[in-house]
Parts: sequence; C-alpha cells; structure tokens
Amino acid sequence: DAAIFQAKSRGYGQTVTAPRGSTVHNGADIRRALEDQEFVLHYQPVVDLATGTVDKAEALVRWVRPDGQIVPPDQFIRLAEQTGTMLELGDWILSTAVHSATTWHHDGRPVAVSVNASGAELQDPTYARRVLRHVADAALAPERLIIELVESDFSLASRAVRANLVTLADAGVRLAIDDFGTGHSSLHRLDQLRVDILKIDRSFISPLTDPDQPMPVVTAILAMADALGLDVVAEGIETPEQADWLRRRGCSHGQGYLYGKPAPHPPATAVLHRSA
Ligand code: C2E
Ligand code: CA
Ligand code: CA
Ligand code: CA
Repeated sequence: DAAIFQAKSRGYGQTVTAPRGSTVHNGADIRRALEDQEFVLHYQPVVDLATGTVDKAEALVRWVRPDGQIVPPDQFIRLAEQTGTMLELGDWILSTAVHSATTWHHDGRPVAVSVNASGAELQDPTYARRVLRHVADAALAPERLIIELVESDFSLASRAVRANLVTLADAGVRLAIDDFGTGHSSLHRLDQLRVDILKIDRSFISPLTDPDQPMPVVTAILAMADALGLDVVAEGIETPEQADWLRRRGCSHGQGYLYGKPAPHPPATAVLHRSA
C-alpha cells in the first residue's frame, strides 16, 4: 500500500507515490533534502497577451526524492513553515531564481522572475534584507524580481510584514497579489499595499468557455485594475478561447498550460532563449 500524492492539476500530469511509513514529512528531512540538493525550481512562462512575448516566469519549487518521486509544494511548504525550515528553503529558492533570471531574454527583452513568498517569510524581520541581498549578489535589476503574496498568508497588522513590503517596494522590487479574488478584504489591502500586479485566481478562469460569456467578477477585476494602473495576470489559462476572451477585454498577461507547464531550467525552452 502506498500513500498517494495526487499531482492532479499541478503541471506534471502524473501521480507520484511514497511508500507507506516513509517519513517524508519532518523538518530534519527538509534540511537534509536541502543539503542533498533534492529541491529543484521549475519555471512557468507568463506572456503578454497582446504580443505573445514572455514577460516573466514564475518559479515553482519541487522536491525530487532520491527514487525520483516528485513531491508537490502543497505537500511541504506548510511543513517547512511549521518546522522552522522555511527561511532556509526560501533563501535557496530566492538565490536560485534570481541567479537563473539574469540570463533570461525573449524577443530582445529581459524576462523577470516571479517568486512566491510564504507567510513565514513575510513575518520574518530579516526577509526584505535577505531578498535584496540575493538580488544584489546576482546583480539582477530589482524590477526583474516580482514577489507574489497570497492575501490569506499574511497580516498587514504585523509591523514586520509592513516593513518588509515597504523595503522591497522602495528598492524597486515589484509586488503581486497571488490568487486574487479568493481572499478577503482585498480592496482594503490593495489600498494599503504598493502592489504592481494582480494575479486572477484560476478558479475564475476555469469556468470560461464561451467568447460572449458575461463573467461579471473577472470584468470587474479588470476594470478595477485598469483604474488603479495595475497589470493583471490571468492564471490557469488552458484554452485559446479563454485567452481570446481575456485579451479582448484588456487583460494584460496570461499564464497557464496553454503557454507552457512549469518546466526545469532553462524555462520553457520553446519560448525562452538564454542570452550569452
Ligand atoms: P500558485 O502560486 O498559485 O501557483 C500556480 C499553480 O497552478 C502551480 O502549481 C502551477 O503548476 C499550477 N498551474 C499553472 N498553470 C495551470 C493551468 O493552466 N492549469 C492548472 N490546472 N494548473 C496550473 P504548483 O507548482 O503545484 O504550486 C502550488 C502552490 O504551491 C503554488 O500556487 C504556491 O502557492 C505554492 N508554491 C509553489 N512554489 C512555491 C515556492 O517556491 N515558495 C512558496 N512559498 N510557495 C510555493
Ligand atoms: Ca504564485
Ligand atoms: Ca496563484
Ligand atoms: Ca495558490
């Protein structure tokens, strides 16, 4: 019998299994996996819907076990937070992502990298400083790093969180609200945060099948983003019909299997060219 990690909807289209009784899930395991270099980053392109140019790529972490099993992030990010190993893992993710991004260009333009921030990282008083150190070490222009925040993962009431976000924004790092529309008090937060990008959650895009479908919530988000001068990334675009609907209504960017699944470095070889 095996414990099954369902990889459904997660980009590698396969089911991975772990033998029963294997203690995949503790903090010491994560630390050892970091030492043994078992974590890898996959990158998924985000395209400019008007031009088809790859504008950025999102870094998505995977844990490749010695036997080749792939553990999805949903299975270990929370664990890393609970066991106090998230800051180490996050440092590795940031360092790897910003170093990779220095070589990315598409259609002669630099491609930015988007990195997910966990709640534990955002609460840590040293987070912004560490982010900026990684950016400086890689000599990456700060605008080429985007930090993705999930609303439900952080509290703006926390002084440390506010200080981190102000420090990052002051330095020119861009901020994105991830899974937009699924959290609460979104509008209040938008008003307080110096956000550059809204990522519309896949759950709003998936039901989109018809070119004339009303989709009032998506329409309202696009209008609001336009009024606020924010870029919008529609997540989980899987069909040309979805892309057309969004493009015709002024959505600036899209991400999803239609353009490319998360893939190991170099990202989305078909569309991203490494520069010399
Ligand atoms: P997320 O940030 O919302 O990432 C998008 C997820 O949707 C990814 O799953 C991606 O593979 C999947 N996806 C992208 N396009 C499509 C599509 O067209 N259709 C479908 N069905 N799915 C699509 P993944 O890589 O399993 O990541 C799951 C979550 O784990 C992420 O959600 C993010 O919250 C978290 N995560 C991933 N990498 C990191 C990381 O480096 N740090 C932190 N803190 N969290 C991470
Ligand atoms: Ca994300
Ligand atoms: Ca998302
Ligand atoms: Ca998510």
